Amino acid sequence: MSNNTIDWDNLGFSYIQTPYRFVAKHENGMWQKGDLTDDPYLKIHEGSTALHYGQQCFEGLKAYRTKDGSINLFRPYENARRMNESARRLRMPEIPEEMFVEAVKAVVRANEDFVPPYGKGATLYLRPLYIGVGANIGIKPAPEYIFTIFCMPVGPYFKGGLAPTNFIVSDYDRAAPMGTGAAKVGGNYAASLLPGYEAHERNFSDCIYLDPATHTKIEEVGSANFFGITRDNKFVTPVSPSILPSITKYSLLHIAKERLGMEAIEGDVYVNELDQFAEAGACGTAAVISPIGGIQIEDDFHVFYSETEVGPVTEKLYNELVGIQFGDIEAPEGWIVKV
Ligand SMILES: *Cc1c(COP(=O)(O)O)cnc(C)c1O
Repeated sequence: MSNNTIDWDNLGFSYIQTPYRFVAKHENGMWQKGDLTDDPYLKIHEGSTALHYGQQCFEGLKAYRTKDGSINLFRPYENARRMNESARRLRMPEIPEEMFVEAVKAVVRANEDFVPPYGKGATLYLRPLYIGVGANIGIKPAPEYIFTIFCMPVGPYFKGGLAPTNFIVSDYDRAAPMGTGAAKVGGNYAASLLPGYEAHERNFSDCIYLDPATHTKIEEVGSANFFGITRDNKFVTPVSPSILPSITKYSLLHIAKERLGMEAIEGDVYVNELDQFAEAGACGTAAVISPIGGIQIEDDFHVFYSETEVGPVTEKLYNELVGIQFGDIEAPEGWIVKV
């Protein structure tokens, strides 16, 4: 398999098969060493809890080609920690952090030809996936587990890159107050397919989920976190136990405060108080930063900065974040791990 057919300038966010993936099994209470394989199929037992009861979680992170040709990972230990938080919530054994990060590096090295060249804005997206497998029918944790990581080159997630897109507030919930909203589990995504479909049908990029208990506060923007820039230049992002704790969001809180000198706050974002924001955006590994043009809330359409142009603070945050990830701007201690 070669990378000859890849058009680095026009990558989307879609599956491309790359040569190697990592697979490790947890059996008899122990992790096997794991290995790279060229087989993109997993053969699993029909009784696997991942299939019946949603005992599975996943991660998403990227590898970045730098100007000098080396390859950066962005805060991969945070992904390792978060996968273990998801695993604990689903009664799955923990994955040693070092095993997680070494497996990520092994997959990047084995597929190095598929890490997009510097300057294209494209990256190698890595998908760690962790599933309960083995013969079972009762509602209990699986007897065995598979941890795998595969990868593919990707371009920007939302079409149009830094161009704003519009969203619609959903009546559905993606998670319950003490449910699994803070865990990166497939079940939350299954629950988001219908609301996402309905949003797309109405020509919105995705839907916005409100807090499940009161439906008054913004929680998530599709599969990304929300942030707003207030008219007095504060960076605000929602806080809630049912939001997925985005590593990009925590990185932006740091960048806003330490690099842009802004006040950076995690707090409530009421849908009826959006006038306080001069700009708004969605953030996540896949989305990076995606400016929000406007939000449809029942019959009202609320526009932030502009429906066609990115706001100046959002752009600064984007440039700083992406500059750090691609190695053009000095990173805070520990954020970049070289492959
Ligand atoms: C993965 C994810 C995010 C983004 O998290 P990052 O660590 O920034 O990639 C946001 N919301 C949901 C629901 C997610 O699953």
